[in-house]
Amino acid sequence: MLSGWREVTARRPWRISAKLLIISSVVTVIGFSAICVNVMLDMRRGEEALARQTLENLATTIESDVNRNIEIYDLSLKAVASSMLLPELATVSKPIRQLILFDHAITAKHFGAIQVFDTDGRLTIDASTLDPLPEVRSEEDYFRVHRDNPDIGLFISRPMLFRGAYSIVLSRRISDTDGGFMGVVAGSIRFSYFHELFERLNLDRDDTITVLKRDRTIMMRRPFDLEIIGRNLNERQNWRADNLKAGGSYAGQGPVDPTPRLYVRSTSTGPMFVVAGKPLTAVFELWQREAYRIGAVVLALILFMLASTLVLAREIGRRAEAEGKLEEMATTDALTGLKNRRKFDSVIEVEWRRAMRQKTPVALLMIDADHFKAYNDTFGHQAGDQVLVGIAICISDAVSRAGDCAARYGGEEFAVLLPNISVTDAFKVAETIRLKVQGWSDDQASTTVSCGIASLVPTAGMDPSILVAAADKALYAAKAGGRNQSVVASLPQLSLVA
Ligand code: GH3
Ligand code: MG
Ligand code: MG
Repeated sequence: MLSGWREVTARRPWRISAKLLIISSVVTVIGFSAICVNVMLDMRRGEEALARQTLENLATTIESDVNRNIEIYDLSLKAVASSMLLPELATVSKPIRQLILFDHAITAKHFGAIQVFDTDGRLTIDASTLDPLPEVRSEEDYFRVHRDNPDIGLFISRPMLFRGAYSIVLSRRISDTDGGFMGVVAGSIRFSYFHELFERLNLDRDDTITVLKRDRTIMMRRPFDLEIIGRNLNERQNWRADNLKAGGSYAGQGPVDPTPRLYVRSTSTGPMFVVAGKPLTAVFELWQREAYRIGAVVLALILFMLASTLVLAREIGRRAEAEGKLEEMATTDALTGLKNRRKFDSVIEVEWRRAMRQKTPVALLMIDADHFKAYNDTFGHQAGDQVLVGIAICISDAVSRAGDCAARYGGEEFAVLLPNISVTDAFKVAETIRLKVQGWSDDQASTTVSCGIASLVPTAGMDPSILVAAADKALYAAKAGGRNQSVVASLPQLSLVA
């Protein structure tokens, strides 16, 4: 049965280019995005480093102010403690005693008056008055600590209500020359000191400043909350001391409130340390805005680029298809759908060289319609054309290997190139074609073809025209022999392959 002629697969170099274009665009987009992400992450790290430095400066400034004031106040307490040992103190009048004890004591507005308590915790001397009212502080921490521990040095109490104001009490033990307990000298720093200190700083609403004692007791915090003042961070299950070491920083939820912040701890080694915190949203606010802006622009560019690439790729695809069609048209015979003469000439050149390299045979069939002029004269040119189409279908059906090339050689003559095939097999193909044509045309007006077959292994200096001439000669022989037959060329001077 005849089955129509096979689809010719055209080379489509543009298709590859369209794919390449898409791949290179995608690679560019990925590379571009990676660079953008990297730049944005760098910017983020920069913002964080800047915020950390600012917070560190802030914490260190506050800490040195607090520690310096404590140190100055402590000097006064030390002076009072040592002056209390002077034997003359008992003999002088109260005003002179005040002068001796408190001459150097600071009287700044946030510092409470220094007081001296005896061994039973009774108030004996008060810097603010010559005749203090009776007061007993024997149950207070700052008294008991000194009574029970001779070497405690400066004791800083938890924040407490002291003489009507929230304060931190600073105290020292008064010891006699043998180290015996003689009482306690105490003073206070009011919270107003911290409030004023914090107010002087330019802080945002959600920024935090926490002043802590070395034992991690919260002495003061901004924003102010009495609930947490005096609490020790060791009580917090969710907060480990390792989270924020001296001079270090921590980003995340802190021990006091749930707002994620960047916390930075001051570095010094005084009795107090300070932690300054800034909400992460504020730290990265500028960056985030910039990141959204850049991200939106980059996304728009990427989308634009991808859309352009797709449009371009489609256009390239269309062109490739059109070019493929054009190429097919340029190499196909319009009437029969076989390859045209031009294509055949280029194919035979290529196959000839290949066979020469590989030392393999090339066979050529030259097929010519018999008495075709008479057919045309009898049935008309159009009917003749249909016969040519029929012969082409018969040839296509019989020639199926990849690399074979069936072409309309001219007029009612066809050529079939069969690379790497023995002359016996080439003869078989020729006979198949001849019999197919005969079988097909039986029903209509009798049409037959004659076939000339030549096959040889090309060697250097040989030309394809030798093969064509040999096949042509065999075709003439077939015609001369009575037509409707296949004849193999016999050229003793050529290395014909049997
Ligand atoms: P032979 O058996 O010796 O080949 O006889 P022939 O008549 O086939 O040979 P000849 O060369 O004398 O005639 C070829 C004819 O083929 C002449 C022409 O009318 C016809 N022919 C060539 N090309 C076409 C074509 O495209 N269409 C049609 N219908 N006829 C064609
Ligand atoms: Mg003919
Ligand atoms: Mg002819």
